[in-house]
Amino acid sequence: RSKQSGRGQFSYFAAEMNDKIMLQRKMTEDMRHSLTAGHFFLEYQPRFDTRARQMRSVEALVRWAHPERGRIPPCDFIPLAEQNGLIVPLGDWILDTACEAAANWSGIGVSVNVSPVQFRDTKFVDKVRDCLRRSGLKGELLELEITEGVLLEDAERAIEVLNELKAMGVKLAMDDFGTGYSSLSYLRNFPFDVIKIDRSFISDLGTRESARPIVQAILGLGRALGLSVTAEGVETNEQLALLTADHCSEIQGFLMSRPLSQAKISELIEKVPEITGEALLQTA
Ligand code: C2E
Ligand code: MG
Ligand code: MG
Ligand code: MG
Repeated sequence: RSKQSGRGQFSYFAAEMNDKIMLQRKMTEDMRHSLTAGHFFLEYQPRFDTRARQMRSVEALVRWAHPERGRIPPCDFIPLAEQNGLIVPLGDWILDTACEAAANWSGIGVSVNVSPVQFRDTKFVDKVRDCLRRSGLKGELLELEITEGVLLEDAERAIEVLNELKAMGVKLAMDDFGTGYSSLSYLRNFPFDVIKIDRSFISDLGTRESARPIVQAILGLGRALGLSVTAEGVETNEQLALLTADHCSEIQGFLMSRPLSQAKISELIEKVPEITGEALLQTA
């Protein structure tokens, strides 16, 4: 009897596994189709200078408008795209689209998330150079957001690539800072310009007592190393007040603005050349 139920159990898992593989295959096909059909699009979340309360740049965030399933968030398809390799053509398209958009935003920079898989692409540096040339965007207005995954494999090659990017004027941000295994040694070894404090630390600000000293320590580290620090995921006025008091350079979060369409960003830039967080909050 137990044997039977054991086998039943097994075939249940086998069936479930099979479903999972089938679904991934289907999603991969859909992804390939959506890439050519134009079902991916970008939103841009403003990032503000904390003191001046002005928008300085935006972060490009990819979205998938799946024809049958509706909108799928990036956390549900980026890992699959990394597995099936489609992150490379998708990432190329993201970089191109973001640079093209920012080239029309006189002075507002754009930040693009780069997957470790894209970073491994031997043509990556050339692709960035081509994007800048095609769009006419100044390198200084492009920032690449990198997580520690990029730096884990071949550190020497990573440093080479990062230095080539920096030679074009491109800025480098360490995304999700504080969540990795050895963030500190990365700061020592790699030429970053910006630290982005992970949202988990910011959401604890004002609710967990340990959060503020941790954020303050990261801010102190940034100051000592001459790096700009951005807080992501700012949702409350209390968090904003604490980050302002502690001299965090830049802030990003739903309190100031959710990610917006390219048209909306262009409109904001044209209408109000000097956008304050408060003003954007009212118009968004
Ligand atoms: P990330 O790069 O750390 O991006 C920040 C995420 O936090 C975005 O989620 C953004 O919408 C969200 N966020 C910003 N402010 C707030 C806030 O105040 N509260 C809350 N709850 N969330 C906030 P999103 O767009 O869902 O992206 C999630 C992750 O997916 C990104 O994390 C990034 O790792 C990845 N991703 C998004 N777009 C791209 C892309 O174009 N390429 C690659 N390779 N990865 C991407
Ligand atoms: Mg990011
Ligand atoms: Mg982040
Ligand atoms: Mg994050």
